[in-house]
Order: sequence, then structure tokens, then C-alpha cells
Amino acid sequence: ARAQAMEVDESPAVEYADIGGIDEQVREVREAVEEPLINPEKFDTVGIDPPSGVLLYGPPGTGKTMLAKAVANETDATFIKMAGSELVRKFIGEGSRLVRDLFELASEREPAIIFIDEIDAIAATRTESKTSGDAEVQRTMMQLLSEMDGFEARGNIRIIAATNRFDMLDRAILRPGRFDRLIEVPEPDAEGRERIFEIHTEQMNVADDVTFADLAEETAGYSGAEIASVATEAGMFAIRDGRTEVRKTDFVEALEKIEADDGGEFVPSA
Ligand code: ATP
Repeated sequence: ARAQAMEVDESPAVEYADIGGIDEQVREVREAVEEPLINPEKFDTVGIDPPSGVLLYGPPGTGKTMLAKAVANETDATFIKMAGSELVRKFIGEGSRLVRDLFELASEREPAIIFIDEIDAIAATRTESKTSGDAEVQRTMMQLLSEMDGFEARGNIRIIAATNRFDMLDRAILRPGRFDRLIEVPEPDAEGRERIFEIHTEQMNVADDVTFADLAEETAGYSGAEIASVATEAGMFAIRDGRTEVRKTDFVEALEKIEADDGGEFVPSA
């Protein structure tokens, strides 16, 4: 069950340089997650505890998972990911057991970064409906909070959660000692989009008629994930046309195919 529900990566291949347009968020994550792992004595000397948990929130595909992986990479920590939706899909009692397993695995593999994606699945404000499912979800969340209470703030396990639905969260999880450092990860602005285009075309043979600043202008509302798809799709058009060089026209066609998705789930086109 463990293997299915958790993704474990001893050395994720993401670096801070791979993340575009959210430099301030990178800085904040490093301060809240990396610093306590690398220089715990700084916190001892000043006499404060580092943040217990970091919550990344913002639209889909903006780099939240990348941030968590990059910190794990940079600190030589094991990256352990679990999706909130996985935790609630299980049979009665399974969710809280999986949370226990998650922290147990982290302590076996420390230093470790625990990344809980879609935390809203287990930490949404309770709705009117009081089904048994709700009680089970509640138990899973209580288990998570109790595991967080149980580990040393200055220890070798750091926890990062992510959500696209900040509005839905039960405020109880944001109290001190829980997810007490909030970092918003927004959709990239024009400058950010330009940087993300640069990053995702680094390995591509891009023709001289392609201007990233123009592409950035034309992709208002696109997330990083959507920009990555545009780059890949442009490359596909070049291949279809029997070229190895990717031209402006390829990007224009790719933009027609990949449209920015406002809000809902991002569905890559086939
Ligand atoms: P979700 O909320 O849907 O889980 P997320 O915010 O965790 O999304 P990521 O999984 O980090 O998004 O990003 C998905 C992919 O999109 C990345 O693997 C990368 O290719 C691209 N991407 C997203 N954001 C950025 C960014 N800021 N810079 C460069 N690439 C990005």
C-alpha cells in the first residue's frame, strides 16, 4: 500500500534554476525549509523555532511541487510525496494509517521533505453533510496534526503542503505549530513567463525569429505547466514538418492548441 500511495525520490532532479518567475517564493521556501535543515544552530542561537509546516497555495501548475523537490535536492533530503486525494480514497482507518506510515518512512530516511499535495482533500472546512466519510477524513487530518506535534521543529524532517483551494481550508491547520508559514505561488507575470519559456526551450534548437518577450506577451494567464506544454507542442510541430529547428510559426500553432485554462483542472491536450 505504501508504494502505491507514496512517491519516494532519494534525489529529485529539480534545481532552483529550473523554476522561473517566482524568485521571491524560492527565497521564502529556502528560508523556511532549507535553512532549518542546514543551519539548525542559527535557530538555536536566536532561540526561535523554525516554521513547523509550510503551505504553498495558488493555481495549478505554477511550480509548487517543483519548489518542494528543489529544496529536497538542495538539502540532500529524501523527497516523499503523498496526495491528499490518495489519503481519502482508502478504506476506513487506512488514511490515518498511511499518515503514520508516511512519518515513519520519513524518520527512517531523514533528512526528509514530506510533501502533501492537495491538502484540501483532508483539511477542508466541514460541510453540512455528516457522512461517515467525513468522519474518516477528519480522523486522517487529526492524525496528521498529531504527527506534526510529535516531531521536533528543529529536527531533520520538514513538511510542505500544497493546495489550489486555499479558500476551502479548515483554518485549524494554519495555527502556530501547524502550517504556520503560508507562501502564495501565483501565476507568472510577463517577465516570469519569459523566463519560463527560456527554461523550457533550453534544450531546444530555437530559430532566430522566436522572441521570448513576445511569447510572454501572448500568454497572459498561462501557468508554468501550460508554458511547458506550449514549448513541447511547438517542438512537435517542427518534427511533423520534418525540421529540427523550432520556428515562430511552430509556437504560434502551439499557442492555438494550448489555451490558458482559467481556474479548473489543467487538462493537457492530446
Ligand atoms: P498542482 O497544483 O497542479 O499540483 P504545481 O504548482 O505543483 O501544480 P508543478 O507540478 O510544480 O506545479 O509544475 C508542473 C510542471 O509545469 C513542471 O514540471 C514544469 O515543467 C512546469 N512549471 C510549472 N511552474 C513552473 C515554473 N515556475 N517554472 C518552470 N516550470 C514550471
